[in-house]
Amino acid sequence: MSSGSGAAFSETDIRPDALMGEQSARLAADIERLLARRDEFVQVPCPACGAGTEEAVQALEKYTLTFLHCRRCGTMYMSPRPSPDVLDEYYRESENYAYWNSHIFPASEDVRRVKIFRPRAERVADLVERLGAERRLLLEVGAGFGTFAEEIQRLGVFDQVIAVEPTPDLAATCRAKGLEVVELPIERVELEQPPSAVTSFETLEHLFSPRAFVERCFSLLAPKGILVLSCPNIRGFDVSLLQAKSSVVDNEHLNYFHPSSLSGLLASCGFDVLETTTPGELDAELVRKAALAGEVDLARQPFLQRVLLDEWESLGGPFQRFLAQNGLSTHMWAVAQKP
Ligand SMILES: [Zn+2]
Repeated sequence: MSSGSGAAFSETDIRPDALMGEQSARLAADIERLLARRDEFVQVPCPACGAGTEEAVQALEKYTLTFLHCRRCGTMYMSPRPSPDVLDEYYRESENYAYWNSHIFPASEDVRRVKIFRPRAERVADLVERLGAERRLLLEVGAGFGTFAEEIQRLGVFDQVIAVEPTPDLAATCRAKGLEVVELPIERVELEQPPSAVTSFETLEHLFSPRAFVERCFSLLAPKGILVLSCPNIRGFDVSLLQAKSSVVDNEHLNYFHPSSLSGLLASCGFDVLETTTPGELDAELVRKAALAGEVDLARQPFLQRVLLDEWESLGGPFQRFLAQNGLSTHMWAVAQKP
């Protein structure tokens, strides 16, 4: 979702309404299955700064899950949260992901490719160029349907691209695309050469231990290798406004960083943080949709009423660009380098 990608896109393009009804039912079944193992949830400290839960206050609740706000660094995190074993089984058995893989991804892949994955690959190519990074091996962690890996491979920026995808169905989809796939969790990946770059999009928020993940990326990377991450920004517009009603807040998202708390985590694992940006394109539209659906009332918010409803055609685009350019979008990127 590069800010400079040109063509704006709509949320409905990437989440076709006709399929999202069935998807909701499957997600509800997944959530029920997750909550049934509540006695195996564990309390954790802040995933960014390590402060204990005694330094946190309850931020919000959704699906009866508790999300805490770390008073030390401002990160929001689910605690107690599913243990690593519970999470493994959750994703392995997920009906929602099976449905995404069999229906939603195929139905929306063409749009996703053009609107999300190609700009994403171009953005990574630009970064590599700008930073003068090595171009031997790119490791894409959490490759999913493999569209980004395909696109970055097509650009020929790296000599080799490896897709790391531990979920069997998704790994099979990647393999069918002719990608080189390692079907293992990142902790167990062994490589013949250290990667020049590791990319991981919308994965960090799902992990039991983001710190363990970042440390693992650090140890795998070659010196001067770069790490490119994207995840939600808890200080972004739509999540700040919609709170628990935001789709960003869900049962799978355990960690909600913001630009400085994510930078703090990366730096504490040894990385030089080169930049954080918020190139999201959907905040304004998501809040507008919520308002039109009656999920949020803007009647006492004349400014937002005007920008998001009354003068949407002329003000919506510029407003979204303002959010993106000023660290105020809910979709965030971080780029870090191993010294
Ligand atoms: Zn913290």
